Amino acid sequence: MKTPTAKTKTDASKSASSKAATSKTATSKTVTAGRKVKAKSTAAEELRELYTDSLKDIYWAEKHLLKALPKMAKNATTETLINAINDHIAVTEEQVARLERVFELAGKKAVAKKCDAMEGLIKEGQDIMESTEPGAVRDAGIIAASQKIEHYEIATYGTLCAFAKTLGEDEALELLKQTLAEEKEADVTLTEAAYNSINFEAAEGEGDEDEDENMTEEN
Ligand code: ZN
Ligand code: FE
Ligand code: FE
Ligand code: FE
Repeated sequence: MKTPTAKTKTDASKSASSKAATSKTATSKTVTAGRKVKAKSTAAEELRELYTDSLKDIYWAEKHLLKALPKMAKNATTETLINAINDHIAVTEEQVARLERVFELAGKKAVAKKCDAMEGLIKEGQDIMESTEPGAVRDAGIIAASQKIEHYEIATYGTLCAFAKTLGEDEALELLKQTLAEEKEADVTLTEAAYNSINFEAAEGEGDEDEDENMTEEN
């Protein structure tokens, strides 16, 4: 912003002093950058610890889910939902094995550490199954619980992928990405697809109430 008019001297001295200020800032920036590098190595170590802890958490979660899924399948009545849950048991078994490989890649023993979130999500699912009659509504409840579980897993694996990428765990990243894709797929098959195949109208005919016909309404 040079205005080529009068007061040249004043402008020149002003710009000189501002240049000095600029170079001062540059010097202090370099110092800060130097400090940052030092802090980074500690942060990386801490991130690695968080990564391992998160692996232990999801390892517990997947194993706990593996125990709960057969009960969910037993409680379901819609064929599409039963098949989706049974398919998910096989997929989850593979995910557990994949996690063991990820631990190995990180040079750690596969250890499960209780995941309070998954315990709570599964408990909510059990509560729904206990408080509903077998049939369409219980199926809807199982789907609702499954969706929450899948979303928790999607969030967890998404984070684990980011951690693995940052830590340069390339092989683990590929495995975690694979699981993340499976969780997203499970979310679709266990929820949207299964929900759309529930026959609420037939269930309605069975009972004596005929309140809401809009349960199966599509958006
Ligand atoms: Zn968890
Ligand atoms: Fe899973
Ligand atoms: Fe957790
Ligand atoms: Fe899953």
